[in-house]
Amino acid sequence: MERPNQKISQQIALLQLRLRREWPLIVLSSVLAAAAVSAGLDWRGVMVGWLLLFLCVLARTPPPAPVEPLQDPEPDEAGPGSLPLIGAALEAVDMPVFVIGADLSVLHQNRAAEKAFGALSLGSHLSARLRSPGILDMVRETVATGQPNQMEHSERLPSERVYILRVAPVGPAGPELADGSLYVLAFRDVSELRRIERMRSDFVANASHELRTPLASLRGFIETLQGPARADAKAQERFLGIMFDQATRMSRLVDDLLSLSRLELKSHIAPDQTIDLRPLIGHVRDTLMPLAEELGVEIRTHLPDGKVEVLGDRDELVQVFENLIENACKYGQEGKVVDVFVKSEPSRPVEVSVVDRGPGISAEHVPRLTERFYRVSVADSRSKKGTGLGLAIVKHILTRHRARLIVKSEVGKGTAFTVRF
Ligand code: ADP
Repeated sequence: MERPNQKISQQIALLQLRLRREWPLIVLSSVLAAAAVSAGLDWRGVMVGWLLLFLCVLARTPPPAPVEPLQDPEPDEAGPGSLPLIGAALEAVDMPVFVIGADLSVLHQNRAAEKAFGALSLGSHLSARLRSPGILDMVRETVATGQPNQMEHSERLPSERVYILRVAPVGPAGPELADGSLYVLAFRDVSELRRIERMRSDFVANASHELRTPLASLRGFIETLQGPARADAKAQERFLGIMFDQATRMSRLVDDLLSLSRLELKSHIAPDQTIDLRPLIGHVRDTLMPLAEELGVEIRTHLPDGKVEVLGDRDELVQVFENLIENACKYGQEGKVVDVFVKSEPSRPVEVSVVDRGPGISAEHVPRLTERFYRVSVADSRSKKGTGLGLAIVKHILTRHRARLIVKSEVGKGTAFTVRF
């Protein structure tokens, strides 16, 4: 129902609209009337004429078409009639979803469901695709009670996947749903989330284990120094030396852990400095020269003429090549020579390869080398002052630089780590 105030304001708005549209005629007629009066015509007659003209002008303007108020659409009962609409909407969803009837027949399967579980002819029973009794029981319970349900389900084949499944009636929930009701069964893939959770907890366990070992050794030596070795100057000197090494190992580990966490924080920001790799590689070689001499290894660099520029972060790239060249010197020590090749050819990616002639790495280890704390031999890595985090840091830095690490190794011949920008 329209209220009186609303009606008056609508009429005023209409009048304003007409006046606005016809203002040139109204102004012209007013000017003519004023001219007629000043020319000596009777002002009352002129006034009546002007008023008549004014009314004709207003009557001439058609009122704007009435606007139909928007009606709320009738609430639609969910049923087979709404299936095409629901199906179309589900195509926009990137998680597997089935629409099923009360008899558990599949009425629609979106593309994501088809991809995950294979195509299913419409009308077939849900158990033709999902054989787990747990899932079928959960859906039956929802059909019986009209209440949504949720469960976790894992699949082993074709690959290990973990899903959170949710089934719910379409429309308001309640036990009064009819036989023609529809139900939506949706699968949320949480495999990646679970993998990251597992990696995180493994990482914390590994990091604490790595820190606990030198800590336990430090405590042991402190107890010995306080007790049996209290008066043994020679033993004291030896133990203090070992304690210093253990404390240094702990601080290396903490530095590497901090490095990793800082890199994780900025992993999404691409570096934007222009870096010339020639002087950078030269600087890394000079820094590692004392270590190489100590190990009896020669570092040979093979650089092209002219600048070799890439977009990057200088300190991070120094860290990458220090890690790779240091590893080559340490683990490839027996080969005596480490070659560093910098390749920059027109319309080809810039590449830096660090090649050693050491014992090589057998194929099963290669894909796991960049995992945190992964070492081919823990004892070997520890004796060479490794933390097991060097290549994980390298991989993080290269990911931020949109660069790749390619490892080629042959047991008995040596290893090549190539960074491709
Ligand atoms: P670490 O601190 O133990 O050196 P890294 O992450 O740098 O850790 O390397 C992981 C493992 O990869 C090392 O423990 C070693 O077993 C292996 N590795 C790395 N570089 C080489 C290489 N040039 N030759 C042989 N093995 C290597």
